[in-house]
Amino acid sequence: MSVATARGTPPARQTTSPSRRAAVIGSGFGGLAAAIRLQSMGFETVCYEAHDMPGGRASVYEEGGYVFDAGPTVITAPHCLEELFELSGRSLSDYVRLLPVTPLYRLQWSDGVSFDYVADEAGLIEQVRRVSPGDVDGYRRFADYTRQVFKKGYEDLGSVPFLNFTDMIRAAPHLARLRADRSVYATVSRFVNDEHLRQAFSFHPLLVGGNPLETSCIYTLIHWIERKWGVFFPEGGTGALVRGLVRLFEDLGGTLRLSSPVDRVTVESAGSATRHVVEAAGGPAEAFDLVVSNADVHHTYAKLYRGVAAAGRRQRRLERMAWSMSLFVLYFGTSRRYPDLAHHTILFGPRFQGLLRDIFRGHRLPEDFSLYLHAPTITDPGMAPAGGESFYVLSPVPHLGNAAIDWERVAQGYGDAILESLEPHLPGVREAIVVRRHFTPADFARRFGAYHGSAFSVAPTLTQTAYFRPHNRDPDIPGLYLAGAGTHPGAGVPGVVNSAKATCDTIAADFQVVASR
Ligand SMILES: Cc1cc2nc3c(=O)[nH]c(=O)nc-3n(C[C@H](O)[C@H](O)[C@H](O)COP(=O)(O)OP(=O)(O)OC[C@H]3O[C@@H](n4cnc5c(N)ncnc54)[C@H](O)[C@@H]3O)c2cc1C
Repeated sequence: MSVATARGTPPARQTTSPSRRAAVIGSGFGGLAAAIRLQSMGFETVCYEAHDMPGGRASVYEEGGYVFDAGPTVITAPHCLEELFELSGRSLSDYVRLLPVTPLYRLQWSDGVSFDYVADEAGLIEQVRRVSPGDVDGYRRFADYTRQVFKKGYEDLGSVPFLNFTDMIRAAPHLARLRADRSVYATVSRFVNDEHLRQAFSFHPLLVGGNPLETSCIYTLIHWIERKWGVFFPEGGTGALVRGLVRLFEDLGGTLRLSSPVDRVTVESAGSATRHVVEAAGGPAEAFDLVVSNADVHHTYAKLYRGVAAAGRRQRRLERMAWSMSLFVLYFGTSRRYPDLAHHTILFGPRFQGLLRDIFRGHRLPEDFSLYLHAPTITDPGMAPAGGESFYVLSPVPHLGNAAIDWERVAQGYGDAILESLEPHLPGVREAIVVRRHFTPADFARRFGAYHGSAFSVAPTLTQTAYFRPHNRDPDIPGLYLAGAGTHPGAGVPGVVNSAKATCDTIAADFQVVASR
């Protein structure tokens, strides 16, 4: 029997019981973080993963000794990962080693200007002075502004679930004071005049699926996160971090079921309690007291909870929302090394604002691109056979809802054009390639059920932030919670790990269990 209660009604409060069971659907960073927290809180937790490896967008490909992290490579705010281990008195360093990366990024423009984005203040100011001496004071004021935004937006509100409109009202004066209505690019432009520096301090929303021209300046807090903690790369790659989280979950007694795509969840009521019956391939249907869905939020409502009236409403609402852009990602291994590269390089094309408009609002594939080049062997040479490099290069592209591109047809040529543009930075790269594969918006849709093939889920615009984002606890379906890029606070590894914290704090309150801290 389907259950729908009044808006905002939590499941009936229940006392702690050792046999309380939780299902997590999806083993992305958000799903694993939620599974670890639930298991640490005493729930008997099963994590279902559709594929034969964990990690979701942070999966790993290996070919011919080349190791390719498919997705996240810039690991920031390591404390939110540490916290998952500390819940059970463990330490992250016993599971995986995080190596500091410096410079955090090397930024290069087509006019030959380059900028090493470093974490230490003196070094960064020196870089600003080199590009535009007149902008040093402006940069200092910008950094101070991002520190204030970080304090409010990350420390105070980052893992608070915005379940009620009153939560939003409470935060509104702070958001107004910080001028959250302004975009990242507009805000940066108030502090610095040089166009290179404006781009250098406003590209960050792209890392979480936002358009710097439209995303709320709350996202400038990423600058302070990077200044405060730096950027890290796990030894062995991001995949090693995922394996560390899986090992922690299993050490705690949790169960991970790989190759177990969930087809459907039905909601049954038994007295005041609610049960979610999960039907996954390859096993019998199982009943749980609650479900945390880490799957694409549209897929959760349109497919997993199909037939539940409230889910249909939510699906239609999601279809009216703005979705983040997609990505074309090209993975390639070379038989030679490029030791002068930085680990993370951003290659800005000649157009910035025009290209962003084409990516986020356009209806066709732009011919030019701005690229992110990942060269993990610079930090960890073990990611490729001796004498070689394993790279990926990604290009932000429109999602399929805006531009119905036939990726089967264009992908190879698009990849060739990107490689040609890399020649000045990687001389002879095309001849040196030993292995190569690509991942397109169509693959995001196919592999992850990503709506419109979006790489980062619901776009992080001001009107889709906090209370206005899909909630960490579904308002109408008792016992259904979300964790991951589609809920508050949003995409990116720290975002989805913090979403799991907000979600599990809510579960702790709803089920009267001591919250995992
Ligand atoms: C190429 C790329 C580069 C990125 N770079 C960075 C970066 O450098 N730094 C950063 O912080 N962020 C980065 N991001 C963003 C970050 O990777 C994501 O926001 C984050 O990893 C998403 O995690 P998630 O918890 O939402 O789940 P996802 O990774 O989306 O995982 C969801 C999981 O659910 C599973 N699933 C779906 N449906 C079902 C079902 N029916 N049954 C069972 N399982 C199901 C999927 O198989 C998947 O494993 C990048 C993203 C991409 C794509």
